[in-house]
Amino acid sequence: MSEPSNEPSHQKLSGISKGGRLFIISAPSGAGKTTLCNAILKKFPKLCYSISHTTRKPRPREQDGVDYFFITDDEFKNNIEKGIWAEWANVHGHFYGTSSQFIDRYLSEGKDILLDIDVNGARQILCRYPHSITIFIMPPTFETLKQRLIKRGTDSNQNIAKRLKNAKTEIAQKNLYKHVVVNDSLPEAIKTISAIISDNHTR
Ligand code: 5GP
Repeated sequence: MSEPSNEPSHQKLSGISKGGRLFIISAPSGAGKTTLCNAILKKFPKLCYSISHTTRKPRPREQDGVDYFFITDDEFKNNIEKGIWAEWANVHGHFYGTSSQFIDRYLSEGKDILLDIDVNGARQILCRYPHSITIFIMPPTFETLKQRLIKRGTDSNQNIAKRLKNAKTEIAQKNLYKHVVVNDSLPEAIKTISAIISDNHTR
C-alpha cells in the first residue's frame, strides 16, 4: 500500500451524512473479508454495498459492475482530477476508489452502506464522515494469512509477497478502527460483525 500523492481535497467533497450510516470493513488480503462481507450482506439485505472502482484486472469469476467497476489507469486519474472519489488509494500497485456520488446519494436517502476498503481509504472516509463505524478483520495468525493467499491461487508468488508485506503495515494501523474482529472461526466472526451492524444499523 502506498500513500496517494494527491489526496482528495475534503473541502471539495460534499459533506456529512444526513441519514444513513457508513460501515467500513478493512482487512489484510487473505483475512477472509470478502467471504465475511458477502455473509453480512445476505444477513442485512437493506445494507448497500459500495462497489469500488479499480484499475486491477478482473480475477476469474469476477464481474464488472458486481465485484468492481474495472476501469483504466487514465480513467482513474481523470476522475482524481475531477474530484469524483470520496476516497482513493494505490493498493498493491493498483488504484482503487469509492464514488462520492454513490455514497452521498445513498446516505441522503437514509441508507446504510458497507465499504470494503483499505486502511488508507478508511482514513480519508473518516475525515469526511467521522461517524462511520469502523471494523478491522484480523487473521488468527500471520501464517494463516499466508496459507489462505496461497490456497486462493489467484496471485503470483511475487504478489503474495507484496500482499504479506502490506498486511504487516495494515495490521500496525488497526487502532484506527473502533472494532477489531479476529477471523478465527467464520461463524463467530459473522456473529460478532452482525452484532456491531445491528447495534448501529439505521434501516
Ligand atoms: P483486492 O484486489 O484483493 O480485491 O483488494 C485489495 C485491497 O483493496 C483490499 O484491501 C480492499 O479492501 C482494497 N479496496 C477495495 N476497494 C477499495 C476502494 O474503493 N478504496 C480503497 N482505498 N481500497 C479498496
